[in-house]
Formats: sequence, C-alpha cells, structure tokens
Amino acid sequence: MHTTPRHDNLIGGQWLAGGSYTPNINPSNLADVLGEYAQASAADLDAAVQAARAAFPVWSMSGIQARADALDAIGTEILARRDELGALLAREEGKTRVEGVGEVSRAGNIFKFFAGECLRLAGEVVPSVRPGIGVEITREPVGVVGIITPWNFPMAIPAWKIAPALAYGNCVVFKPADLVPGCAWELAEIISRSGIPAGVFNLVMGRGSVIGDPLVNHPGVDAISFTGSQGVGARIAQQCALSLKKVQLEMGGKNPQVILDDANLAQAVELSVQSAFYSTGQRCTASSRLIVTEGIYPQFVAAITARMATLKVGDALEAGTDIGPVSSLAQLEQDMRYVELGQAQGGQLVAGGDRLQRATEGFYMAPALLTDTTADMRINREEVFGPVASIIRVKGYDEALFEANNTPFGLSAGIATTSLKHATHFKRHSQAGMVMVNLPTAGVDYHVPFGGRKGSSYGPREQGRYAQEFFTTVKTAYIGI
Ligand code: NAP
Repeated sequence: MHTTPRHDNLIGGQWLAGGSYTPNINPSNLADVLGEYAQASAADLDAAVQAARAAFPVWSMSGIQARADALDAIGTEILARRDELGALLAREEGKTRVEGVGEVSRAGNIFKFFAGECLRLAGEVVPSVRPGIGVEITREPVGVVGIITPWNFPMAIPAWKIAPALAYGNCVVFKPADLVPGCAWELAEIISRSGIPAGVFNLVMGRGSVIGDPLVNHPGVDAISFTGSQGVGARIAQQCALSLKKVQLEMGGKNPQVILDDANLAQAVELSVQSAFYSTGQRCTASSRLIVTEGIYPQFVAAITARMATLKVGDALEAGTDIGPVSSLAQLEQDMRYVELGQAQGGQLVAGGDRLQRATEGFYMAPALLTDTTADMRINREEVFGPVASIIRVKGYDEALFEANNTPFGLSAGIATTSLKHATHFKRHSQAGMVMVNLPTAGVDYHVPFGGRKGSSYGPREQGRYAQEFFTTVKTAYIGI
C-alpha cells in the first residue's frame, strides 16, 4: 500500500508504470515527500523513441494552426496555474516561492511565444544564377529530438526546449533531471491534454546513468538538446559526433561581475548579491567571481557583507525567505568543499559558508563570500554552483576586463559602471555570450537568444527566433520553370 502518489512515464500517449519508483524529497524539509516517480529502463526509453518515430510523419506535416493552438493552450494553462506550480517548484527544487512562480510564468510565456512562432516560420524565394530556374529555401523539422535537462530550472529549461521542438514539427523524448521529476511530470500532464497526438511528446523519467546513453545513442533519435554540466555535455557531444546527430549543449559558467571605481555602490552591491546568491547561487548565469577595482574595494566589501547579513535563508515556501536551501546533499557538500578549498588556497572567508539549522531538517547554507582570491585559485576557475562568491581585487578597468575573460567559460558577464566608455568597451570585448551593464549576470528575457561561448555552450543558441537554427533543417529546392 503506497501512501505517496505515484507518477508514471508518458510513452506513446499512455501513462506507463516504471520498473521502480524514487521518492521526490523537499530540500527545505527532508521529511516531506512530494511523491514517487517512475524510473524508466532502457526498454522504456526504446518504446518512447519508437512512439516518437511513429508519430513524426503525421506531426511533421500537420497544420501550423493545430500546433499553434496546442502550444497556446499549454501556455495558458501554465500561466493560470502559476501559483500552484510555482509552489511545487519551490518545494521540489528549493527556489523561493516568488522565484518559483517567476520561473513558471516564464515557462508559460515561452509556450505562448512559440505558439506565435508556428505561424511565422518563413522561407526565401531567390532567383537562380541559371536562367529559367527558381530557388526556394525552406525550413523543415529535424525529426525526433532527445531533450535532457538539469535540476536547477525544472520548468523553464524543459519549456524552452520542448516548445520550439514542437512548434517546428519535431517529436520529443524528454528526460528530466532525476532530482526534480515533479515539475517535468506536471508539464507532461498538461501537454498530454493539449490536443497534440499520442507519441509526439514522451516523458521518460530516470537516471542519466541508466537511460542517458540509450537516449543519446539511439538510432531513432535525430538530435539531442542538452543543458547540464560540462563533463556530461562533452561526453554527449562525442557520442553525437560518432552517430552524426545534431547536438546543442548549454553548460556551466564562471561568470564575472566587474565593479569599477565609478560604479554606483548601492546598485553594484544589490546586483552582485542578486546574481551571486539568489536562487541559492544555483544558476548557470550566477556571478561567482566579483572583480573589484581598488578604489572602491574597501567600501564594496564592507557594503556587501553588511547586505549579506540581512539575507534570510530559510524554507523555500515561507514568506520572507530570500535564499532557499541548496537542492541536494551532494550539492551542499560540493559547496562547502569549495569554501574550504578557497581558504586553503589563501582566500579569506568574510561571510557565511556554514551549514544552517532551521525548524525542519534541510540543506540550508549561509551564502559565502571570500576575499583575497586570485584568478589561478580553483574557486575562481571551476563552477561551484552554490551560494558561494569570491572577490578578485584589480588595479583598473584593463585588468578587470582581462580577469573577466580569464576563464574557460563564457556564458554571462556583467559590469557595474557609470562610464559609457567602459560599458561600451566591455560589451564589445567581453568573451561571453551575454553581457549585462548595471544589471545582474542572471535574469534574461525569454524572446531573445540565450547562450554562451568557450566551454559554456556548443551549437546553435536557444530561445527566441534563434531556436529555429537547432530545431529545423534547411532545404534548398530548385524548380525548372
Ligand atoms: P548534469 O549532472 O550534467 O545533468 C544534466 C542532465 O544530464 C540530467 O538530466 C542528468 O540526469 C543527465 N545525464 C547525466 N549523465 C548522463 C549521461 N551519461 N548521458 C545523458 N544524460 C546524462 O547537470 P546538473 O547537475 O543537473 O545541472 C547543473 C549544471 O547545469 C551546471 O553545470 C549548470 O551550470 C548547468 N546549467 C547550464 C545552463 C545553461 O543554459 N548554460 C542552465 C542551467 C544549468 P540525472 O539527473 O539522472 O543525472
């Protein structure tokens, strides 16, 4: 007899039981189990790919009005249920309720955006260099797309991959992160009632170590869209190269936030706290390196530590919580290890870094700030992915720009300055895919491209109209007149 609800996989339009189930545990309260979620086997995965393949011929030729209506209905329902789903997200992943509702709203708006994009896909008609011939350039769906997502944005990242995949006529096999199947299941349940034919969209929950390779290597899968860590991403790219699949990877960051002497101090502190510690620092766009010029350095350190003392770390669902728990024990241990490592390599811990006790047992951590760190320290080279930031002190703008780019990653970069000259120069010379002037490095719009350079991203950009680069393939047709 099960006391917690069981959630099955969606394969070929049927809700199918898993061979086993895993409990989904609230990181704010380890005694709170959201439900049990199916663990798929390689055979389940194969069934999902077969279902998607079978559905592709009809879906890829379906009318754009039907696709637009379905995506619009999905977006409408997500937005109507944003409070409920936002609370679920907070309970499952540990973002605060406000952040959870914000993420769900983003997911709803993404479906609405791509509902419109169904109607806007255009081609080109160009004259041939040869007389009497016409040339048409059109975009067609890629086929069956495997979508693999991380745990830190359990609603928005699936949305920004699934919505364009469906809008452009692809079929989907979706594998969410094992830590956060709850949001994925709710999203799948909404999609299953949207009028999209059986098999077009399939949800296969389970561990990457079990169904990751079978999905990536499946001959029935044409393309893989992945967001997650660099290590897993690089491995997937190798596998896709061997089987000649199209692949798109969004991976980690070590995003710099530059603060120049002429910055507005209060604004610089606020945006640094926002991007380093909100969402518990668990954002690929979080700024974990604060690069501060020496003229403002003492005031900045004093002001940011004072601001950090006001942050309320607590239960993600409680009103007034600024920073929710870390999402898992493994991540908490990694965060604490990096705080120790930063100190062992010469950094000074000036705030936080300790595990906190709250009314319920959870993975609570005080946001940590280290000063006196240098670019070569591991804490400044490797992604921590928690509420941990370090400060690098530099002489002036040129050194700040050099240090901002002195990283194997290139996702997002920010500068706080009142100088138009430096802001303009930084926008052009930053080696990041996204640049922010007087704004946090995290926090982006849903209708414009998202992605990075260097070790952060591989393949075409996600989101906005740029999503069609990955989710469509170009055909050039010649017509003799
Ligand atoms: P992860 O460990 O790389 O996992 C990402 C996804 O890959 C999960 O669904 C995981 O499944 C799956 N996976 C694991 N091994 C696999 C394999 N061998 N084959 C196929 N799939 C496999 O990353 P994470 O810890 O979930 O997420 C944090 C990372 O994501 C950070 O590095 C962060 O910067 C990055 N991220 C990047 C962006 C961006 O847009 N650039 C956005 C958000 C997050 P399991 O959960 O079952 O292991």
